[in-house]
Amino acid sequence: MAIDPVCKMEVEEETAAAKYEYKGKMYYFCAPGCKAAFEKNPEKYLGSHEAHHEHHGH
Ligand SMILES: [Zn+2]
Repeated sequence: MAIDPVCKMEVEEETAAAKYEYKGKMYYFCAPGCKAAFEKNPEKYLGSHEAHHEHHGH
């Protein structure tokens, strides 16, 4: 099982809607749109920068 780096969904490698090799690593996507977004700006999705902020507690 791979993780779609764009939407963080779990994607089965064999049934992935799209895949894309970047820097020697293969990434799998749940939809062609996710692959397109990744292709445009892979670093945005790969960086461990906090892409979104979760709010915990109150
Ligand atoms: Zn996706």
